[in-house]
Amino acid sequence: MSETPDRYDRQKRLWGKKQELLRNATVLIAGVGATGSFAAVDLALAGVGNLILIDFDTVEVSNLNRQLLFLEKDIGRPKVYAAAEKLKKLNPDISIETFFGRIEDAPLEYYEKSNVILSGLDNYEGRIWLNNIAVNYRKVLVDGGMDGLFGYIQVIIPGKTACLLCYPLIPVNIPIPKPCSPAGRERMSYFQLKAKDIFGKLTPPQPQEPSPAVSTMATIIGGLMANETLRVLLNIGNIKSGILFIYAHSLDFVWIDLNRRPDCPVCGIIDKIQEFELPIEPEITIKELKKILCEKFSTKDIEVIYGTHILDDSKKLDDLINKEIGVISKDLRFPIYIKLIKKG
Ligand SMILES: [Zn+2]
Repeated sequence: MSETPDRYDRQKRLWGKKQELLRNATVLIAGVGATGSFAAVDLALAGVGNLILIDFDTVEVSNLNRQLLFLEKDIGRPKVYAAAEKLKKLNPDISIETFFGRIEDAPLEYYEKSNVILSGLDNYEGRIWLNNIAVNYRKVLVDGGMDGLFGYIQVIIPGKTACLLCYPLIPVNIPIPKPCSPAGRERMSYFQLKAKDIFGKLTPPQPQEPSPAVSTMATIIGGLMANETLRVLLNIGNIKSGILFIYAHSLDFVWIDLNRRPDCPVCGIIDKIQEFELPIEPEITIKELKKILCEKFSTKDIEVIYGTHILDDSKKLDDLINKEIGVISKDLRFPIYIKLIKKG
């Protein structure tokens, strides 16, 4: 006799008992606006047991053409609260935590306890920050973006697939105006520039404020991001290393393979981190240790920390043997922790 159909009956026909994996999973959604709201709906309906929503924005009337989770009555409310309310109605079985604020200010434990981080952000700097956090905590990052009828999606599995800094869409040293920048400030649409490179179909974009957006693209990108998230959580199929560009104006989908770069300033660290017990002569000083580390990480201007203290150059290492020290440097983008062990 077959079981009584439940809420997830139709999808269990795809993956059966693996549904439990979804119930136990935690997905952090950074940005619950356009793509983030569609992805959140899909993940809630699919029964992902724990969602963490982070967004610093409040609902505006101009959001309502594409941000599925908000109604006119929500105008002025923090997006995370309005979103959590709707998602809970769509699926009362799931638990939802919210953080009304910037991604950088959210408790790090939110990132640590997530299985997947999904980026529904609308700015490049935030994506790079999430990329670095994801690599640091070895979390899968599902990133997507849209601009007009152009969009992309990329899945970052730290140590396996290319991260955002392996092949930045734009050079990281170009200051990118934020979408929420003051009205009138000139804005460059790098997605459109990239689309022009790839498809050769666009005239150079005119600076505009704000950027064009339609719900169909939010549906496509948000849906694909949610689908990739489910594939990661359920271990279905092969997650490819690369980026999918979508130009919906002419229904072009272009997949570009990207191999992870071992010299990537962010995820390249993972290869080096394998050997993260560092045999050392206890007699040497921090200054000499810094020289070794600079060589190891191909960087300069390293600082060595223990606990919360920056260690003085003249300090000897003898009382740091078998302890974990932190290495910080602008080039490394986040601290690396290594255990010093006695050589020989
Ligand atoms: Zn990388």
